[in-house]
Amino acid sequence: MLPGVLLLASLVGCDDSAPLEDAPTAVAVDPAAAIEVLEELTRAVAERDTAAAPWPSYLVTNAEAADVVDFSVRYLTDDSSVSQGLPGGQWAASVEVAWRFQGRDPHAAHAEVTVIFDGSGSDLRVAAFGGGARVQPLWLSGPVTVRARDNLLVMVAGNQQVKARSYEELGAVGLRQVEAALPDIRTSQGLVIEVPANGAELERVLNAEPGSYEAIAAVTTTTDSSDAPGSPVHVFVNDPVFAKLTAHGAQVVATHEIAHLVTGAATELGVPLWLVEGFADWVALRRSTVPDRVSAAQAIAQVKADGLPGSLPADEDFGSRTTHLGAAYEVSWLLVRVLGERGGAAPLLELQRRLARGAELEVALRATFDLSVTELVELWRAELSRLIK
Ligand SMILES: [Zn+2]
Repeated sequence: MLPGVLLLASLVGCDDSAPLEDAPTAVAVDPAAAIEVLEELTRAVAERDTAAAPWPSYLVTNAEAADVVDFSVRYLTDDSSVSQGLPGGQWAASVEVAWRFQGRDPHAAHAEVTVIFDGSGSDLRVAAFGGGARVQPLWLSGPVTVRARDNLLVMVAGNQQVKARSYEELGAVGLRQVEAALPDIRTSQGLVIEVPANGAELERVLNAEPGSYEAIAAVTTTTDSSDAPGSPVHVFVNDPVFAKLTAHGAQVVATHEIAHLVTGAATELGVPLWLVEGFADWVALRRSTVPDRVSAAQAIAQVKADGLPGSLPADEDFGSRTTHLGAAYEVSWLLVRVLGERGGAAPLLELQRRLARGAELEVALRATFDLSVTELVELWRAELSRLIK
């Protein structure tokens, strides 16, 4: 670590633009050798060649376990801002990576990822993937434990057999619950659940702002941070937060996320969050035997304190830093339940699709449930009044 520390110290002392003559010799960046090694890595992953090679051995074993196909790594450019913080001899570059989990992802994901190289010329090796302000795909970041069955794949950071089995079970039950609630839906992709070691690692995997997923148990989003149609969507878990849930709570969260995935909510923009979140909870709580006074406890407390809402929940109510987060989910669940009890899943899906295509809520609600927005708010208020009695 010493050369890196020295480099940092000399840079800190140079804010008067003095020449950097005293800094240690710059690392030899060697794009030609890097391109060659990355081509070799692409071949090794495709052929599942686990022979000793100039990259971490987990790359090929992970690819084999998760059945990675369509893998390629294309060198883009070296990244001096990341290289500056690295130990001596190491340097960073950005690469474009493509990969697909066979049988689960409908298309390949494409993401710009940082690679850390060590050395140059014939001694060059890949030290690690990740770093810089770029996504850090879990399977490229370190050894993972994989469980696979049918169209379900679970990937947990590290050697975590017990944990992987428990997420596999949550995923399998969740898929069955979603299929039961939404029998007509046909999805083009399977279910992939990715479990980084902790919240900070989750943020690195998704290239999210530090702290943004601190209090979130799980999130359903594209693996390459794009919202391009066809980008693979996976469920990502914040394991330390998830681990604090009760068994029932864990299943509700898992099924809720799978409902997002199956209904295409992650890439359908423009749908109000009360519908997206309420729909997912409606699916997750459909067969729940937990009484409303428990499942809607925060909503009931909020209505008792603030009175009945005068309008539908706003998207801002769902910010991860807002204080009434739980209540916003619960009132939205009750709102969607009002609709679900009137027409079932099919018009709910149709409502979501119409809104994603840009329809006005008033028009879409009339077409799918024969209701005006005012009538829906009235039905919802009646339900909330009943619950606070
Ligand atoms: Zn959600």
